[in-house]
Amino acid sequence: MNLPESIQVGPFRYGVSAEQKLEGDRWGHCDANWRIITLAKDMPPRQQSVTLLHEIIHAADDVFNIDLKEHQVQVLAHSLAQALSSMGAWPEKFE
Ligand SMILES: [Zn+2]
Repeated sequence: MNLPESIQVGPFRYGVSAEQKLEGDRWGHCDANWRIITLAKDMPPRQQSVTLLHEIIHAADDVFNIDLKEHQVQVLAHSLAQALSSMGAWPEKFE
């Protein structure tokens, strides 16, 4: 599976882009104002799909005003990645 160009989150279409390195050595960032999810290319290959889920959850948190804590985002991303991967519905890594 290729990295998607955009993802629908509620009524909004979030663009997805990848940059070599992100500020502060982060692996991902979700810009809620511009509706853009950015992933670092510079991370372990199998980390990227979990990081994308993590940023999608941040996007949903913002769109639906859930007010999740960072730890909750982390737990949801890892558990969803594991469940979806076990069904073959989510890649362990992107091409
Ligand atoms: Zn986060």
